[in-house]
Amino acid sequence: MTTQAYDENNIFVKILKGEIPSHKVYEDEHTLAFMDVMPQAPGHLLVIPKTGSRNLLDADPAVLLNMVPVVQKLAVAAKQAFEADGVVVAQFNEPAAGQTVFHLHFHVIPRREGEPLKPHSGTMEDQGVLAAHAEKLRAALAS
Ligand code: AMP
Repeated sequence: MTTQAYDENNIFVKILKGEIPSHKVYEDEHTLAFMDVMPQAPGHLLVIPKTGSRNLLDADPAVLLNMVPVVQKLAVAAKQAFEADGVVVAQFNEPAAGQTVFHLHFHVIPRREGEPLKPHSGTMEDQGVLAAHAEKLRAALAS
């Protein structure tokens, strides 16, 4: 039972550095939120810290303190923007638990009654759809 070290070349660091594109929804000194490219439901977004850790297990608790209010703010905005009945907040630690990108992140997924979740890391969404959904979320945050 070994845990690998944090890899600074992971894809979310490339997003933080602007080396690969993302549909940003929210950013502050400590945190970035952007659309998941393979959404499990419309409006699925990810919240990441700007500080590196592999996941929750090795995160600095001070980083978590900065993140949780942002996760809450985005969950409220996602529920409003997508007229959702509920919101899933999910976070996976290590491959055995379903983690595929090894930089701490929280999934925020608006849910509607009777609409099943699509598979985790399933199908790539159209970029235009992601851009429109990011805009809806930014508008909800601003309202
Ligand atoms: P996890 O499996 O919890 O580590 O979640 C990683 C998530 O990152 C998955 O839901 C992927 O769809 C998503 N993802 C992977 N690459 C990107 C990317 N370049 N931009 C946005 N989301 C991504």
